[in-house]
Amino acid sequence: MSTRRIVDLLRTGQPNQTVTVQGWVRTKREQKEFCFVEVNDGSSMVGLQAILTPDLPNYADLVKRLNTGASVEISGTLVESPAKGQRIELRSTAVTIYGEADPETYPLQKKRHSFEFLRTIAHLRSRTNTLGAVFRVRNACAAAIHQFFQERGFLWVHTPIISANDCEGAGELFTVTTLDLKNVPRTDDQEIDYSQDFFGRRAFLTVSGQLEAEIMAMAFTNVYTFGPTFRAEDSNTSRHLAEFWMIEPEMAFCDLEGNMDLAEAFLKHIFKSVLEQCPEDMEFFNQRIDNSVLATAENIINSAFERITYTEAIALLEKADRAFEFPVSWGLDLQSEHERYLAEELFKKPLIVTDYPAAIKAFYMRMNDDGKTVRAMDILAPKIGEIVGGSQREERLDVLQRRIRELGLPEEDLWWYLDLRRFGTVPHAGFGLGFERVVQFMTGMTNIRDVIPFPRFPLSAEF
Ligand code: ATP
Ligand code: MN
Repeated sequence: MSTRRIVDLLRTGQPNQTVTVQGWVRTKREQKEFCFVEVNDGSSMVGLQAILTPDLPNYADLVKRLNTGASVEISGTLVESPAKGQRIELRSTAVTIYGEADPETYPLQKKRHSFEFLRTIAHLRSRTNTLGAVFRVRNACAAAIHQFFQERGFLWVHTPIISANDCEGAGELFTVTTLDLKNVPRTDDQEIDYSQDFFGRRAFLTVSGQLEAEIMAMAFTNVYTFGPTFRAEDSNTSRHLAEFWMIEPEMAFCDLEGNMDLAEAFLKHIFKSVLEQCPEDMEFFNQRIDNSVLATAENIINSAFERITYTEAIALLEKADRAFEFPVSWGLDLQSEHERYLAEELFKKPLIVTDYPAAIKAFYMRMNDDGKTVRAMDILAPKIGEIVGGSQREERLDVLQRRIRELGLPEEDLWWYLDLRRFGTVPHAGFGLGFERVVQFMTGMTNIRDVIPFPRFPLSAEF
């Protein structure tokens, strides 16, 4: 007799099979002659219903102690369930309680709790239906991402978390230091003297692994990163975290078309895979969180993404029959309200916007022949806005150097990046995908803080 995952028993368990399960009590229902206990081990939304009968040793005591949240091991025989909505249940022959949970103080009682409240008990919230479903979907999503790239021969490369290049300008940086904050060394002109710091220079938590991924792509052709990134953005939005996970594929011998094709196939693959792996969880999100998530997923899987240029997007926004909070005009960056209008209302599906003005994009993006726009692409998704940001990279040494000088970036710090254009340069392209944004999009969860187990955001680093 071996311990079995509840999800497997619910799917394939047969009557008369003897099994042992371990988990936490979700609910207890006492009847006159017996007691129902639903046990959940996190492997599925639905738990296994165990029936306890008075012939069990210490029956009365067990029933008193088996409250919501208690940890148990139950052995018994599977029987066909007469109840609606479940195929089998467990007739218990032995029950061990590992740890009780006092019903007076255990915070997760049956009633519905707000997500805000659940964030204050992030050490317990994974035991709720919603957060349980979120983290199973998150896991399936991560597995699908690796599968997608591994099947295509992409190498998973591990780029550093501590980084010294801040020239990307992707966001606000967290400094990593061992300097004595009570007695910070100063240079003659009263600047902080980072030469005395651990790395002998100022270092940060990475905001993106892209530049290092480009290095690796110049040796392995197709690579991807999947790791944590950090941005000290003091923005309390429902789409930004201070610590989030990013996926960044980088492909040599690839242009923007190839990049867009890959990004689209990639998003389709992860949606398809999660629908296959987590059907009950996705059904739950559709019923309880956002009744459009299944339709949206089908839409992503089955329809070709719209592709328009930034210039066309601006024209569409200028024609929109509504007032935006932020102005729309050629040269200004698209704000979230603009992105959402385009994806959610106008096209009603993801769309890829390309060829943004150089002035609002990063230095490494490939300059178009018009000298004004670059080969950038953002994928905008209904409800979320930007979900992917990518580009074809500037592979021409002279053009890249000119850009770096125009922007006043420290050319000497980028010597290695420029070397890639000196030695065997090739057209190449890649994109970055915010992992939590995808999970958010997939599940319909409105706040990004509820799709990562332990969210970090301004004034909050608990757990
Ligand atoms: P936004 O305009 O939404 O702040 P960004 O332009 O700063 O995004 P990029 O620098 O292109 O984003 O980062 C790549 C991807 O990482 C984004 O497309 C998004 O999915 C995700 N992302 C960016 N910042 C955050 C954040 N603070 N928290 C979670 N995900 C993020
Ligand atoms: Mn940002």
